[in-house]
Amino acid sequence: MKLTRMITMTMLAGLCPYAATAKPAATRTVTVCAQDWSMPAMIQARMTASRLFREIGVRLQWAKPGSCPAGAIRISISRSTPDSFYPGALGCTWPFGGAQVEIFLDRIEKNNPRIVPNLLGYVIAHKITHVIERTGGHSDHGVMKAHWDWRDFARMEGNRLRFAQDDVDLIFLGLARRTPAVGFPTNAAAISAGDIVPR
Ligand SMILES: [Zn+2]
Repeated sequence: MKLTRMITMTMLAGLCPYAATAKPAATRTVTVCAQDWSMPAMIQARMTASRLFREIGVRLQWAKPGSCPAGAIRISISRSTPDSFYPGALGCTWPFGGAQVEIFLDRIEKNNPRIVPNLLGYVIAHKITHVIERTGGHSDHGVMKAHWDWRDFARMEGNRLRFAQDDVDLIFLGLARRTPAVGFPTNAAAISAGDIVPR
């Protein structure tokens, strides 16, 4: 684990009633609204992201953009991402100020056209995790790796890439800090930080 993440986890553990390694028994639910809800690749991507979170005890509840409840994580899709906008990134989020995710679908299609639905699902799961953890931090391996390589893509194709245990702990810490009645903050005025994500 990187030192910065260890420090962050230590700080969070000190502020939070949950121990860093304790996963609550009850399943947590996170509501996510996704643009292009019914697009075939998005349908499969939603299943992939849901499975990844279900395996660690978190249920993703999907809502259509037109009926998106307050406090939900909102996903938008970009199909003409400017080359100068976070070059090489497959999406961006603002983990310190809001609950918004933008996915660069055009770059995903160019990056690895053979596994677009899988890759889309993993990018969505990665970005949702930034929102939950409220950090831009990355792990040395797994879903939250900063730069996926060919081995990771092969694991994605076989649905074998998982969350690192450090991220499971941080996800539950993040969910424990969330205000249940409000969910995630959506404060456009506070959005200031982008996040460069895996290639
Ligand atoms: Zn990232």
